[in-house]
Amino acid sequence: PPVVRATDVTKIYTRGSDPGRIGRLLGRPDAPKVRALESASVAIEPGEIVGLAGPSGSGKSTLLHLLAGLELPTEGTVTFQETDLESLSTRQRTRLRLEHVGIVFQHFHLLESLSARANVALPLVELGVRKRDRRERAERLLERVGLGDRTGHRPGELSGGEQQRVAIARALVTDPTLVIADEPTGELDTETGRRVLDEFERIADDRAVVLASHDRPTLEIADRIVRLTDGTIRGDDET
Ligand code: ADP
Ligand code: ADP
Repeated sequence: PPVVRATDVTKIYTRGSDPGRIGRLLGRPDAPKVRALESASVAIEPGEIVGLAGPSGSGKSTLLHLLAGLELPTEGTVTFQETDLESLSTRQRTRLRLEHVGIVFQHFHLLESLSARANVALPLVELGVRKRDRRERAERLLERVGLGDRTGHRPGELSGGEQQRVAIARALVTDPTLVIADEPTGELDTETGRRVLDEFERIADDRAVVLASHDRPTLEIADRIVRLTDGTIRGDDET
């Protein structure tokens, strides 16, 4: 069975603030709605690297957020290893994500007050892993992305590319079944980008990886590319 499957998912965002109860009583109109994703279906098998392509605003991040269980679809279903995410409580869904999904955000979301090592170890804190094991695993992951000599640095003391690699190490530290990455090589030079892509190819062995990207070398490591236009999947092809 696939690691994750989205079936006919539609996501509608309500822009701006909700008019609220008083607003509605006064007949204030609802905020305009954005259909970020329209009836999209995709299934990702173990060992597969899927590239997600499409212009800015086409719904790539939205689809990644749904596959990662960060948000629920407005319509349709997302199943993770045959569990319908909608059937879980918010707490169970968070737990499942922490244990099984590694996410590399486009803007990293690193904590400025923590060292690279502590940032990478953060998901392990939430999973209750012992301090010494956390430290060891965080350092091993940082070494694998070429940052073995930067473990004590804070994000502000690192370049954009180094911060990106810290974010990648953090996404992989729990040994996730599904890895979701939004433009994971956006800040990297060719050489470092190649290294990070090798790492993705290596981890994809028995996991599922979804990479949203505009970058040709990044999409080239994908077994299959899903193309989005205006929230709709326009094509799903082998590379
Ligand atoms: P991409 O990642 O391809 O650039 P997104 O998924 O970020 O596309 O966005 C798809 C559409 O949904 C865009 O019109 C975007 O502005 C809108 N959108 C995304 N997230 C939100 C949100 N939280 N609230 C309102 N609109 C959103
Ligand atoms: P990432 O978390 O991948 O770094 P961004 O920094 O692009 O994503 O977006 C941060 C948050 O803002 C996300 O939760 C996303 O859903 C939301 N968002 C994206 N586009 C819009 C938009 N047009 N309006 C409101 N929220 C948005």
